[in-house]
Amino acid sequence: MRIIEKKQDLKSLIEKEKYNDKTIGFVPTMGALHLGHLSLVKTSCEKNDITVVSIFINPVQFNRKEDLRKYPRDIPEDLKKLENYKVDYVFIPSETEMYPQPDTTKYDFGKLDKVMEGKYREGHFNGVAIVVRKLFDIVQPDIAYFGQKDFQQVVIIKDLIRQLQLKVEIVTCPIIREEDGLALSSRNLLLTPEERENASLISKTLFEAQSKCKQMQLEELRNWVINTINGNPFLLTEYFEIVDEDSLQPVHDWTTDKQLYGCVAVNVGNVRLIDNVKFNL
Ligand code: AMP
Repeated sequence: MRIIEKKQDLKSLIEKEKYNDKTIGFVPTMGALHLGHLSLVKTSCEKNDITVVSIFINPVQFNRKEDLRKYPRDIPEDLKKLENYKVDYVFIPSETEMYPQPDTTKYDFGKLDKVMEGKYREGHFNGVAIVVRKLFDIVQPDIAYFGQKDFQQVVIIKDLIRQLQLKVEIVTCPIIREEDGLALSSRNLLLTPEERENASLISKTLFEAQSKCKQMQLEELRNWVINTINGNPFLLTEYFEIVDEDSLQPVHDWTTDKQLYGCVAVNVGNVRLIDNVKFNL
């Protein structure tokens, strides 16, 4: 496992690998790695000759300075965890390496980024698109791995690839959860023990909603989810939307042939967590 800090070094190494017909799998992360990230790494190692993992906290995707400042960082521990897999290159660039000058590109994702995360975190997906494009340009992956936990992000990245006509396959990996159901997230580290315990109500409510969807009208279920989560004094729902998986637009009744997902963002104290479930109608 080689640690690379300079994009030109990684580019040259990748060029050599490609010359030798190696397939490149890529897992972009912001570090503070947990088993969710590592499930992506494991899949990439199984499916590709070469696996590249990047660790870069991308400042331009944070809409709140405080969130960026508090974001957990532990590179030595991350590297120890990655040693357990057949990772070839870990790319850990500095901010100036990624942004020698500000990148002011503006992407147009139509309606896709006007809802949910895009609506509540202004500029977030533009920042994600900027860094993903830069990273893809350096790593030139055949396959890139993303987590279903960031459901809207996957749809937006697929749209980015379509817009830029890149030849990258996107593979979405399932959400890895704690034993009590809480979706793994680097931000879970920021929860107090009390907040952590109460945060499990988020996924519990989503799972219960999955089983209730045949008995309740959609809007009734939507309100039930919001009220149940907000009934806990540690939790405050920012949004809960039931959306169609392609357009990401909220739907208002169950009569659709589209696959529907329930997506939630909840503030647990000062920590903002997201999660989602699929509705099998
Ligand atoms: P992040 O470091 O938060 O930017 O996440 C890097 C990648 O790991 C993204 O594609 C996330 O969707 C994915 N990821 C984060 N948490 C989980 C999880 N609990 N299960 C599966 N994938 C995850």
